[in-house]
Amino acid sequence: MSGTPIEDLTPDYSILEQTDYKYPVHDAYFGYASRGCIRKCSFCGVPKLEGDQREVQPLSAMIKNVDALYGVKKDLILMDNNVVASSRFKDIIAEIRDLGFTRDAKLKRGKVPVQRRVDFNQGVDARILCKDPVYLKELSTICIKPLRIAFDHLGLRKQYEQAVRMAHGFELTELSNYMLYNFHDSPEDLYERMWLNVNLNEELGIRIWSFPMRYQPTNLKDRSYVGEKWKRYQLRSMQLILQATHGIVSGSPNFFRRAFGNTAEEFKSLLLRPHHFIFNREWFEKLDGRTQLEEFQALFVKMTPSQKAELLESLSLCQPREIKKLDASTRDIQIKNILRFYIPPIKEEEAEIWTRQKQKKKSAPAVPDDERVEDAGLQEELGFPSLPANAIEAGGVLA
Ligand code: SF4
Repeated sequence: MSGTPIEDLTPDYSILEQTDYKYPVHDAYFGYASRGCIRKCSFCGVPKLEGDQREVQPLSAMIKNVDALYGVKKDLILMDNNVVASSRFKDIIAEIRDLGFTRDAKLKRGKVPVQRRVDFNQGVDARILCKDPVYLKELSTICIKPLRIAFDHLGLRKQYEQAVRMAHGFELTELSNYMLYNFHDSPEDLYERMWLNVNLNEELGIRIWSFPMRYQPTNLKDRSYVGEKWKRYQLRSMQLILQATHGIVSGSPNFFRRAFGNTAEEFKSLLLRPHHFIFNREWFEKLDGRTQLEEFQALFVKMTPSQKAELLESLSLCQPREIKKLDASTRDIQIKNILRFYIPPIKEEEAEIWTRQKQKKKSAPAVPDDERVEDAGLQEELGFPSLPANAIEAGGVLA
């Protein structure tokens, strides 16, 4: 391998102007304090793409070059995969402080000083954080916001919870995390992890936002992978719920219960709802669609677990436009009866629902744009009518 490693090049900010898309994180330095990772998690592409952890040149050089070419930036976005595993961790944090990103640092660039922000946007490793308070003590000396701690499976629960409690002890209260799903986990597992955050938020008075990330193997060209404990229909349902929430799971108990249900069982039932019921949730739960939802629920609660499993399997094997044909493939009268609810509404009906829902007040996303996670798959085609451009802003699905 020859040439300058990409992490040692000065970022070219002009590429941000070459697209119509306005990148929310533009007033920031982008860099790495380390590359690679010490671990080899089987779901992760980093071990294959970057290999073992290695150190890179100090951040100061990159920042000096950006200042000279593009002017001083407010925030520092670091894309390290596992910075707490670096043998230079303490030096890295000291350098970040020296660069002007101390705990409450503000940038005086115009008349009004603005709060600065450091974001290790790939998350930090709970298994290391919980071993020694020194890691979080060090992180609490810089203006980190949010502190992102990965919570990829329930096996990490103890370490994750301990790391969150330790962070709270150092007054780090703006937290966020990635939650892998569709790997070896099940819907119940994902629900339990999300629910733990709600409990921690309530108990500690902190704010944890979660970003569920759907697992896809790195060697698969499309996003068609379905984990062994998930079904395709459930993945589409999950995506519809997340589209409505901008991909964010709020740790607010009321919001969470409404979006994901009061129990893991309710969450699973929600994942098995007709997709237009999820897509137009406000309509079916609070507005004119309520009678239809009640009729559906009356049939649904009478179904046995095996009937629900058969229904889920059938729905997972077909596209929405093919649902009508499912009637012929089952002899079960209860499944036949409930199938009619799964047939998508005609376009005119859908348009009417949207017109009515749009009249509701707009809801702003709860997490600032530059702290949100971009999930390439979130807005992908679902074989279901795509969300109108203003759908989320209209707050129509989960106001
Ligand atoms: S610790 Fe994180 S970056 Fe490292 S291999 Fe595991 S998932 Fe990937």
